Amino acid sequence: MTDRLSFARALYDAVPLYDPKRTPVALDLTDNTNLWGLPPAAERTLRELPVARVTRYPSLYAAELKEALASFVGASAEHIVTGCGSDDILDSAMRAFGEPGSVVASSEPSFAMIPIFAQMNGLQYVGVTERRDHQPDLDALLAAQPRILYLCTPNNPTGALLARETLERAVREAPGVVFVDEAYAEFSGVSAIDLARRVNNLLVIRTMSKAFGLAGLRIGYGVGAPALVREVEKSRGPYKLNAVAEQMALAALRDDMDWVQEHVALAVRNRERLAVALRDRGYAPLASHANYVCVPVARAVDVGQALRARGVAARPFPGLPHVGDTLRISVGPWDLMQRFLEAFDDATADIYGTAS
Ligand code: PMP
Repeated sequence: MTDRLSFARALYDAVPLYDPKRTPVALDLTDNTNLWGLPPAAERTLRELPVARVTRYPSLYAAELKEALASFVGASAEHIVTGCGSDDILDSAMRAFGEPGSVVASSEPSFAMIPIFAQMNGLQYVGVTERRDHQPDLDALLAAQPRILYLCTPNNPTGALLARETLERAVREAPGVVFVDEAYAEFSGVSAIDLARRVNNLLVIRTMSKAFGLAGLRIGYGVGAPALVREVEKSRGPYKLNAVAEQMALAALRDDMDWVQEHVALAVRNRERLAVALRDRGYAPLASHANYVCVPVARAVDVGQALRARGVAARPFPGLPHVGDTLRISVGPWDLMQRFLEAFDDATADIYGTAS
């Protein structure tokens, strides 16, 4: 514990550093990135990038990338704001729309950074337990009168897809702005972007960290009404997207879409295959629309540790509402899934004492 600085903001006393307990391991299935690797045109761009790209500043607000993202999502550049990961979009948007003390309401369980971003911006976080069917409890969320209502679809960690009528009602009835986090939307094939273009209080948040395999570059973007995204852009500030990231993202959007689609399809196929393999073992994985599987597993923290001892990491979520302890497993190439299943069989036999 370091000494508290007298000049530090008091509200930061309660802000933790993010610690998803990610220590090096031979097979890491904890962060839902693209386990097939990097798309080829993006990789070529990295190898051939002129040095001047790094010695000079990047573009102010990534205008060229906004154009490319706009045509990818079926919008125009004025609907797009980019950022340093979708984390940055979430953080900047909270700063743009929340006055000190404003309520940020989120369904729970959901993305673990939301309460932290709320705290970082001096906002008041209200978590509302989801319903038994893994849909948000919209009545309770709206009753909190949130300035910012956060919904995630497919949801992290459950993999559940938000019902369209719930989304539309949220946008109609929310007293402030609605954030829909679509970090995993490519795997579901479903998006709220069509709605975000028609209303002025919906910000859809996307990333190139997952389906596009570019997590290390930190490229996120928001889609919404021009007036809405301009506020986020003001709060984000200039030069936030680095020059290497912008060039590689442009290459990926221009030349790697077949690769991305092919690997999304593989992830979806292997997700279903993994779910079958888990059901064959007597487990009941939650229906997932993302590139991970969330499976109720008794003593998930112990099982996670036993997996780690075998060189495999999956993320435990102890005590999820309605389902209890779960493990969330990122989906990748089938040989990796087989390695996971072998370690899982071994680990669970060890923990439950039912060695076969
Ligand atoms: N939203 C969700 C739901 C996520 O799972 C993640 C990554 N864990 C993010 C946002 C942030 O992703 P990034 O900053 O890499 O775009």
